[in-house]
Amino acid sequence: MEERTGAQLIAEALRAQNVEYMFGIVGVPVIEVAMAAQTAGIKYVGMRNEQAACYAASAIGYLTGRPAVCLVVSGPGLIHALGGMANANMNCWPVLVIGGSSDQNQETTGAFQEFPQAVRSSMYGRPGACYVDIPGDMVNAKIEEVKVRTVSCCPPPPVGLAQYNAIAGAISVLKQAERPLIIIGKGAAYSRAEAEILQLVESCELPFLPTPMGKGVVPDDHPNCVAAARSRALLQADVVVLLGARLNWILHFGFPPRFSPQVKIIQVDLCAEELGNNMRPAAALLGDIRAVVSQAMALQPALPMNYYTAFHHISQLLPKDCIIVSEGANTMDIGRTMLLNSLPRHRLDAGTFGTMGVGLGFAIAAALLEKTQGSGQRVVCVEGDSAFGFSGMEVETMCRYKLPVVIIVINNNGIYSGVDTDTWREMEKMGDLTNIAPPVTLLPDARYDEVMRAFGGKGYLVQTPEELRSALQESLADWDRPSLLNVLIDPASDRKQQEFPWLTRSNL
Ligand code: ADP
Ligand code: MG
Repeated sequence: MEERTGAQLIAEALRAQNVEYMFGIVGVPVIEVAMAAQTAGIKYVGMRNEQAACYAASAIGYLTGRPAVCLVVSGPGLIHALGGMANANMNCWPVLVIGGSSDQNQETTGAFQEFPQAVRSSMYGRPGACYVDIPGDMVNAKIEEVKVRTVSCCPPPPVGLAQYNAIAGAISVLKQAERPLIIIGKGAAYSRAEAEILQLVESCELPFLPTPMGKGVVPDDHPNCVAAARSRALLQADVVVLLGARLNWILHFGFPPRFSPQVKIIQVDLCAEELGNNMRPAAALLGDIRAVVSQAMALQPALPMNYYTAFHHISQLLPKDCIIVSEGANTMDIGRTMLLNSLPRHRLDAGTFGTMGVGLGFAIAAALLEKTQGSGQRVVCVEGDSAFGFSGMEVETMCRYKLPVVIIVINNNGIYSGVDTDTWREMEKMGDLTNIAPPVTLLPDARYDEVMRAFGGKGYLVQTPEELRSALQESLADWDRPSLLNVLIDPASDRKQQEFPWLTRSNL
C-alpha cells in the first residue's frame, strides 16, 4: 500500500480546494509542506516577512473569491502573520494561514480533516482569515493511502437574498428621494456585482460614489460618478444606498457634518451584524450585493414605465449603426441623452425650427435611401404621441412601399404630460371636456398600434419592459414591413429637474 506524508496530504487537500497560490517563509517544520505544495501544482512564492506573505495571500482571496495560503512556522512566524490576518479580517477578505507548530502525540491525526472547514469558514458568511495549526510531527508522518479521507472542493458560498418586504421598502424610500446617492464599496467589488450595479445606476440615473477600493466597479469616468464632488454629494444626499461599504471612518461614520442629519440609509450587506452599525437604516437588506441588486431591479420597474426605463431598454437593443429619427418634447430631450449615435448623419430630429411632424417624412426618406443603397441599417423613429399625431397617416405610405421603419411611440397621453384613463373618465363625468380637460391632454391609452395594423404593418401594444424588448427585437428582425410599438408610459412621467442634474432624480 502506498504511503503518504502529512505534507503531501496537506498539499493535496489544498489542491482539491482549488488553492492556486501559497505565500510564505519556510522553516522547520513546514519546509516539506511547501515542497509538497509545489509537487501538487500549487505556486509557492517565498516572501521575506510573513506579514507581507499574508497580505499577498489575502489579496489573492479578494481578487479571485477563493482563498490562497500563507505558510508560516510557529511562534514568531505566526506572530508576524497576525498583522496580515487582522488586515484580511477587517477587509473581509478570505485567507488561509497554515502554521507548523511543535510535534504532538501521533494519535490525533484528525487535525488534517480541519482543512475543508477552514476553507469554508474563510469564504462563507463574511469572508476573513482562518488559521490551521499543523503539529510538526504530522508533516513527515506517513499514513497508508487507504486511510486517507479525501474531501472534495468546497463549493462557492451560498448566495443570500434579501426579504421581499425589505426590498419593497427600500424601493419606496429610494423613490421618494430627491437627492439619492449610491456608495459602492469593496464588498460590491468582491461580490462581482459590476454589471448589476451599472444597470441600476443607468436605468435609474443614480449618482454614485466609490470608496477607495470600490473604484472601478462602475468606471470612474462614468458621467454619474460624483467622486469629484465627494463632500457635497455626501452632505446633500437625502437617501444613501450603501452597497458593501461600512459606515466606518472611511465614510465619516455616516455622521454630520459630513452627512445630512436627515439622511436615510439603505444598507446592503451579507453580514447581519453590520446592519445598523452607527445608524438605524431606513431599509436593511441582508444578502449578497449582486443578488440583492438584481432583486431590486426586478421589482423596480413599477408599471407603468417611465421615460428612463423605456429608453434604457430601447438603447440596449438598438443596433449601433441605426438611423435614429426623433421628435417630441420630453421624448426628444431625454432621448438625446439616452439614445446614442456613433455615426454621422444618423440623427434626424425636430431641427432648428423645432418642428413637430417631420419625423415620419424623414424616416421614409432614410428608409428609401437604405433600400436603394442596401446599407443594412435600420431606421428607427422615436416619437412622442403628440408628435406622431402630426403626420401619423404616413404609416400608410410606409406600408404601401413596404419600408421597414420601426416606429416607437412613447405614449404619455399628452403633450409634455397627460392624465390617466381614470382621471379622464372622471373629467368626462364632470361636464364639457372643452371646459375642463387640460389643453395638453390627448385621449388616454390611444391605440396608435392599431393605426399601423390597419394598413398591414405590425402593431404592438407595449406596457412592460419585457413586452418592449420582445416587440423591439421582433420588429428589428422584420425587413418586409414597418412596425409600430405603442409604448404606454406613466402619464405623469417627467424629465428630471435641471439644477443639479447629477444629484437630482425625480423618476425611478
Ligand atoms: P469599503 O472600505 O469599500 O467602504 P468595507 O470593507 O467598509 O468597504 O465594507 C465592505 C462590506 O461588504 C463588509 O461589511 C462586508 O460584510 C460586505 N460584503 C463583502 N462581500 C459581500 C457580498 N458578496 N455581498 C454583500 N456584502 C458583502
Ligand atoms: Mg467602508
